[in-house]
Amino acid sequence: MILGPENFFVEGRTATWRAFLRAVRRRLGPVLPWAAMLLLGFALGRGCPARRHAAGLLPEDPGFEAENLPEPPRAPVLPPLREPVRPAPESFPRGARRPVSAETRAAGAVRPSAFSPGRDLVYVDDPRCWWESDHDGDTDDECDHTMHAAAELPFRRLVHLVEQREPGLQLRVQEAYRPIGIHTARSLHSEGRALDLTLGRPGSSKSLSGPEASAALERLAKLAWQAGFDWVYNEWPKGGGPHVHASVRRDAPRLRPAVDGRLHEP
Ligand SMILES: [Zn+2]
Repeated sequence: MILGPENFFVEGRTATWRAFLRAVRRRLGPVLPWAAMLLLGFALGRGCPARRHAAGLLPEDPGFEAENLPEPPRAPVLPPLREPVRPAPESFPRGARRPVSAETRAAGAVRPSAFSPGRDLVYVDDPRCWWESDHDGDTDDECDHTMHAAAELPFRRLVHLVEQREPGLQLRVQEAYRPIGIHTARSLHSEGRALDLTLGRPGSSKSLSGPEASAALERLAKLAWQAGFDWVYNEWPKGGGPHVHASVRRDAPRLRPAVDGRLHEP
């Protein structure tokens, strides 16, 4: 039967509808199974818990996200920085060294093949300290914040000790890493493993002088030893300002940053 408006009159209404459905089945026959599967999949997907959860149709499940997240990395355990690691020496007078052996014996000699500035140097800052290179303008291109990573741990411990035990005074960093210049070629400053330190009054550019300076340097030398430096020298050089020279071995423990990049102190 050829379908057309006149069929309703010629063939009758029921026969026309039957012929129409047969024609539809003939044309859509090959795709009907696929269409049925699509419809079924759509209906199942509407009822899936994850989809309903995403659509806000289900109450929040606290375990749903946590189960799929990896374990958070653990922060490294850092040594305590607020307590001394050695008892205080009874005295540490002008010119004294601790230990009394040579610095190279206690802290190791300069070894260019074992030193890499990019790997070994760190930039250290602490607002409780006074840094000479922050105040000497363009007359000097050194950076006193730059030191060997092995010196950071005793240095940060020393900052805490000075804050606790030297009220009214401030740790001053006079010298740290200096690859060339005023020191000898064998100086541990050329690897950033030595620091020259004094005490001063906050806000003052003047160093302590006379008996007050002498007593302060002896106390500072004791604190540097207690903070864990491997060799400490209460140094009064000819033609230079007195200071405490404190140095470390290259294989001394290093502070590692926590996973978020910050230094977490206990
Ligand atoms: Zn020095």
